Parts: sequence; C-alpha cells; structure tokens
Amino acid sequence: MSSEIRSRLWIHNQWEDAASGETFPTTNPATGETLAHIARGAAADIDRAVVSSREAFESPEWRRMDPHKRGRLLWKLADLIQANADEFGSLETRDNGKPYFESRKIDVPSAISQFRYFAGLADKIYGEVIPVPGPFLNYTLKEPVGVVGAITPWNFPLNIVSWKLAPALACGCTVVLKPAEQTPLTALFLAELAAEAGFPAGVLNVVPGFGTEAGAALVEHAGVDAISFTGSTAVGKQIAASAAGTVKKVSLELGGKSPNIVFADADLKAAVRGASTGIFYGKGEVCAAGSRILVERSIHDDFVEALKARAEGMTVGDPMESTTRLGAIVSEAQLDRVMGYVESGKSEGARLVTGGERVQVDGAGNFLTATVFADVTPEMTIAQEEIFGPVAAVIPFDDIDDAIRIANDTRMGLAAGVWTRDIGKAHRVARELQAGIVWVNSYNMYDAGSPFGGYKESGYGRDLGAQAAIEKYTQTKSVWVAVDG
Ligand code: ADP
Repeated sequence: MSSEIRSRLWIHNQWEDAASGETFPTTNPATGETLAHIARGAAADIDRAVVSSREAFESPEWRRMDPHKRGRLLWKLADLIQANADEFGSLETRDNGKPYFESRKIDVPSAISQFRYFAGLADKIYGEVIPVPGPFLNYTLKEPVGVVGAITPWNFPLNIVSWKLAPALACGCTVVLKPAEQTPLTALFLAELAAEAGFPAGVLNVVPGFGTEAGAALVEHAGVDAISFTGSTAVGKQIAASAAGTVKKVSLELGGKSPNIVFADADLKAAVRGASTGIFYGKGEVCAAGSRILVERSIHDDFVEALKARAEGMTVGDPMESTTRLGAIVSEAQLDRVMGYVESGKSEGARLVTGGERVQVDGAGNFLTATVFADVTPEMTIAQEEIFGPVAAVIPFDDIDDAIRIANDTRMGLAAGVWTRDIGKAHRVARELQAGIVWVNSYNMYDAGSPFGGYKESGYGRDLGAQAAIEKYTQTKSVWVAVDG
C-alpha cells in the first residue's frame, strides 16, 4: 500500500499552497500520530478556487461536453477508485479511526457504486414538452445549477464527498469542495484521480481548511450558485442564513436522533443485531445512527440483556486489525463531548448497563467501549441530543401509539427503524414516522439510487437517487416558441 499523502490545495488541476502559507495537522486518532500538515485554505484560496470553477463551468469544453462523455469520465473515476481501493481504505482509516474492515469493505465500494450509478444518469437528464394553449411549443430544459460548494463532514469522508460530487458532475456542474478539517486526505487523493480520469481543470477544486474560514467563505461567495452541506444542525442553520445573502440554492443533510423501534412480535435475535449495528456501526458517528432504541415493555429486559452481550462483544482496538469492530473516536474533543453525555445519562437517572469507559490501545488513542443505557425516559438529554458516539439509549414503550409518539418527539427526523413480524403494523409505523428514511426489519441500508435526507431539523434536500440529484443540481428553464404566425 502506497503511503503517499496529498496535503496541499487542489486548484485548477494543480497542487497549490494556501495564500497565507499556513498549514494545520491532521492526526491518526488511534495513535495520536500527525499524518500530514495540510494547507490551511481560507477566503483568498476559496476565491481562487471559485474563479477556476466558474471558468470551467463556462468553458465550452465542459459546458458543451457530450453528456455520454461526462458519464464516461465518471465511470473512469470509479475505475480509478477501484484500482486504488486499498490505499483509499488505509487513508480513511488512518485519518478517521474507523476500522479498515469498514472503510475498505463498505465505504470505498459504496463510493465506487455512487460514481457508477451517476455515470449512468449523465445522459438521462432532460426536460419535458408541455401542452400549452395557443400556437406555441413550450418545453423545459434541465440546466446545471452552476458552481456548487460542497461542504462535508468527517464521519464518512470519501463516501459523503462522493454523494455530492458524483451527481453534481453528472448534472454538468463544477464543484469547489471543502472537506472536514479532521479528515481531508481521501478527498485530496480523489481530486488527483479526477484529473487523471480526464475531468478538465476547474471542474473539481478541493480546498481543505476550517469551517469558519474556508467553509464560511464558500457559503458567502457570490460566485457559488448552490451549497450542498452535510454536517451538524447548528452549522446547517448558520449556512442557510448566510447563503440567503446571495440567494443560493441550499441543501442540508443534518443531525439525527433516530428511533429504532422493536415490537414484542419481532424476530428478537435479528432486532438485537440490527439495533446493535444501528448504533455501534461507525462508532456511532453516523447521522442516521439508531441512537434511541424503543423497546416494547414486555420484552424490554430480555432485549437489554441481549444488547448488553452484543455490546460487550464489540472489540475495541487497532482499526487496522481485521477483528476490530469499534475504532477510535475521531478526535479527543469529540471523545470529551461523548463522555459528557455519558455523565449526563448517569446524573439524570438512566441505568448504565455496559460500557462508558474511555480506554487506550497500546497506550494511545481516543477509544470508548460500546455503551448501553437502559431506563431512559424521552425527556433525558441522552434521548434528545445527538451524541455522535457509540452510546445507545433504550426507552421502553407500551403500545404502537406510544411508540410513534415517543419516536416523533424530537426536533430531528432523519432515519428510523421498525422491527415487527406484523406487516400491517410495519407499514402503519413507516407512514407515521417523521423521518426521511425508514428501515423495516433492517437498518443502515443504502444505495446510490435511493434518496437519503431528513425531515424537520434534520434538513432539506436529498442526497443519492436520480430524482433528488436532478432537483438539487439542475435548474429548469421554460422555453416558449411561437410555431404559427
Ligand atoms: P461535525 O459536528 O460533524 O464536525 P460540523 O457541522 O461542525 O459537523 O462540520 C461539518 C462541515 O462543516 C466541516 O467541513 C466543517 O469544517 C464545516 N463547517 C463548520 N462550521 C462552518 C461554517 N460556519 N460555515 C461553513 N462550513 C462550516
């Protein structure tokens, strides 16, 4: 596995230093080792990148590119990710702390499939002919929205970058990407491969840096037409407010506090497995994490025992080890936040069933054991706020109406799970949940073709899915043609 690390700004298909000359370190959270000093992009660099992306957007080479060819470039990029899959997996694990097993077996293949799916969409984006009164031909054109500013988080660095890039490029946009400061490495590698695939200079620029510097400058820049953001609800609100200044099109995929509802008639073994992966997969640093596990009272105690056993079987360790299931929490600051929630659970009267311990592996790193709280009530802090860590809150309920009421009793509405053998009940609950994604007798299923995004304060706009991509990355022009004098 090559260990070359790209650490500079990628602008107009070249590596550049930040205008300020400054850098910031990116570290391996499992060891504390500094992996690289990354160019610290800020407003001047964002401006350079936007000018480059605007020029590319207006150039005939990109604007008039045959959409079949755009599709072929995306397909070629997927091939290049595949050819470098081990390196992507290793970079992601070292930068984020998640098990190599997850990055190499799940994140990288998902990114590849997203580029392949949207490669296929590139030549299937078209308007319609509308029957209007009078001697007119009226038709619509679906035109690319323009320069897209993509701002992405640290939990699925390559994957969420792909969620934004693949559909935006398929629709003919150009992109300035600001990856999360904690995990910029795979985005920078991807940029270089996009050039190798044949994307013209400026179609993709990558400016790593901090949210309040590079991120905020991108949102405010008058040369950016749309912002596609995934991150926290607090930052999403700031972005929506700031983007209003230049009337940008904004899509926000924000936090969640997703309920995973287990009825007494469920396949208990499957439900425990699903609830466990629902919260512990990706260290719980997952916007759709099933962090509130609602369990029907009659099976509550058996369920908690079984979940405890599974949690205790989650091996915490070196993320590069194939047996590791819980890697390192992304940063010390994040681990401190999560520990604050563990303390609040205890002090507000929840019962700590297992976990909640900060540990080190080989004397280093930010690790936390898989944590389960029982006897949680819906108003407790750990049942209301997004923890973004491997902490499950088990809440008992009495009947279907009670379950739906508790499930919807939060300001978030990203995802939800339902476990039951009663098909009618499953569909009723799926309809009544205020969530953008509902998994029935499953959890954490994703596909490039299936839209993902939230209700309520979990955001608006969708990632993935053909329809969602066209809504987000194109705008509609209506053309009237007099056909008869
Ligand atoms: P998390 O809690 O997952 O770190 P954030 O919302 O803080 O989520 O970060 C997600 C992305 O948003 C990161 O790329 C971060 O740099 C960026 N970001 C943070 N603050 C701002 C801001 N004020 N304006 C624009 N982008 C921001």
